Amino acid sequence: MEKLETNCPNTWCPGCGNFGILQAIKLTVESLVNSGIPRENIVLVSDIGCNSKIVDYLNLSSFYSLHGRPIATAEGIKLGNPDLKIIVFTGDGGSLDEGISHLIHAAKRNSDVNVIMHNNRLFALTTGQFTAVSPKGLRGKSTPEGSVEEPLNPLELMMASNASFIARSYSSKIEHLKNLIVEAVNHKGFSFIEVLQPCPSFFNTTEFYNKSAYEAVNPELESKEKAMQLIKEWNYADESKIPLGLFYKKDRMYYEDEMTRNFDKNKIADIKKCLATHF
Ligand code: SF4
Repeated sequence: MEKLETNCPNTWCPGCGNFGILQAIKLTVESLVNSGIPRENIVLVSDIGCNSKIVDYLNLSSFYSLHGRPIATAEGIKLGNPDLKIIVFTGDGGSLDEGISHLIHAAKRNSDVNVIMHNNRLFALTTGQFTAVSPKGLRGKSTPEGSVEEPLNPLELMMASNASFIARSYSSKIEHLKNLIVEAVNHKGFSFIEVLQPCPSFFNTTEFYNKSAYEAVNPELESKEKAMQLIKEWNYADESKIPLGLFYKKDRMYYEDEMTRNFDKNKIADIKKCLATHF
């Protein structure tokens, strides 16, 4: 297989959790290609932030979107060519602050795109401002006296939005993360994977996650009640145990299939011919 690395110099800080996610993605792509998915059909879409630099380091088709807009961009790409496998990289800030409406609606309509949310629990590229999942009391550039807000639970939000695949992993658990992403890509419908990603420069959670994160198994993946039990074990505020794993998975009709099923193929060919003539 053609090498996956690029010549782009890596600018992440030493110890950043993004290195583990990059490694997991390389293994994911290898696995998908070995299972018969053409490498050119794997497309990466990124947000803006430390997380999004990941596409610079991977020799694959990719699209850098605007901040908070990668999910909408990914949905457009998927609708244009439903054969593609789309992986979106975003942060907690991009997806739960600027882009929260896109996240909710993509889950609601069950668009067949896969969202990897690198959760370092603050805006890191801009040197440490609080986000929707920052713990109360977080001190940073925008909250020098400490944030006064309770954090949002993004997995509860995904359950409420009717996402059909909801999971959590940790950037240090590379094989665990790779297996979840492969399963998400093969799932027909919207997939959301939260990845706990320590940011040693502005909010170093490495020790806490190493101690608290554990691999949970949900034997009843279609049960919302079971999923919610696991999701509520950690509230992003305290130092309790943090379950990792696939919490919820249920097949239902997905957006691109519903939208394109009745398209008149001849009409689409005519439109494409017309566009090719004019542009
Ligand atoms: Fe990683 Fe934080 Fe450095 Fe960004 S600022 S590269 S998230 S350690």
